[in-house]
Amino acid sequence: MTPATLERIRRFLREHDPPAPCLVVDTGAVAARVRQFGREFPRSRLCYAVKANPEPAVLRAVLAAGGGFDVASPAEIDACLAAGAEPAALSYGNTIKKATDIAFAHARGVRDFTTDSEGDLAALAEHAPGASVSVRILVDGPASATPFGQKFGCEPDRAAELLVAAVRLGLDPAGVAFHVGSQQPDPQAWETGVAAAAKIFAECAAAGVQLRRLNLGGGFGVTYREAVPPLESYARTIRAAVRAHFPREPEVLLEPGRAVVAEAGLIRTEVVLVSTRFGRRWVYLDVGRYNGLAETENEAIPYRLDPPDRYGPRGPVVIAGPTCDGDDVVYQRTPYELPLSLRAGDRLDILDAGAYTASYSSVAFNGIPPLPTYCLEGDTTTHDI
Ligand SMILES: *Cc1c(COP(=O)(O)O)cnc(C)c1O
Repeated sequence: MTPATLERIRRFLREHDPPAPCLVVDTGAVAARVRQFGREFPRSRLCYAVKANPEPAVLRAVLAAGGGFDVASPAEIDACLAAGAEPAALSYGNTIKKATDIAFAHARGVRDFTTDSEGDLAALAEHAPGASVSVRILVDGPASATPFGQKFGCEPDRAAELLVAAVRLGLDPAGVAFHVGSQQPDPQAWETGVAAAAKIFAECAAAGVQLRRLNLGGGFGVTYREAVPPLESYARTIRAAVRAHFPREPEVLLEPGRAVVAEAGLIRTEVVLVSTRFGRRWVYLDVGRYNGLAETENEAIPYRLDPPDRYGPRGPVVIAGPTCDGDDVVYQRTPYELPLSLRAGDRLDILDAGAYTASYSSVAFNGIPPLPTYCLEGDTTTHDI
């Protein structure tokens, strides 16, 4: 996060001292990221992946900065419409949907869908007649911190078949989509997808079907403890790949989630207990795997931790959450060091935690409520404390 965002959030915490744990999001930082994507990818359209953080104030900030939305369910559609989005600004990116979800989306005016199977394509033809469809292909992105495996995307050599079938079913074949895996530190990962998409455009053209849209998905990385390239580097590499593989520039769609909102947020936690067990110092926080830190599963995301009130020498720690679940250990292999003076009752901040935290929080595991979010909009807060 920028020093200005950190200072704004810290000032809010000083002035209001809300109970821990909580997530605080600076929506100005969200809007700034959306505008930065616009500068780095001129002529592209951005659809923010709502699942990263669906707070109404975050959605309003995306919209005000000119963004649209990648939605995955009826509730996400209604959240975006309630925030003021036009249905045309929504793209239904989830390839796994019930017929009733498709009908719901269509009734609300959503006309852009992503698909990756014959079954879903047939359901779209029936419940969203005439809609635009992009076919998601499976692209390997081995460097991703949280890869999708083989859950989504058809084999690239089957995509043209689906797009041609879409025409027969009365749908509008828009183009090709792919996602290189979230927190993808390697901009080159997009190259494979862009090349495969260009081949599918050519195959479709040979069959008399003109495609127009290239959906580059999300996956843009965020610097947690380990540095990832800046957005400029992603943009330079990806735009060069599009120029190299496409004879005519396609409509480009981007679906970032993490990169839009992660650096806008900070989780304020409280230390519940510090205890030495089997020679290791364990720090138990009031936030863990089930109320905000879901992405520490397998220690995939190494957040930066900052104790705002403690200085002095540091030593190694294991970090764990507050619940009675053996999996609620946040970091035991990733080396972390915290001040030796850290005590129960101290505050500890988790930086760059605006994405995939509150939205993953369970409703009441062990009686612990979901992580509350305070959004800073201009000079006001959108939740009472
Ligand atoms: C989750 C998701 C995204 C966002 O991915 P990030 O890694 O957060 O940028 C984009 N598109 C689709 C289809 C997704 O499921």
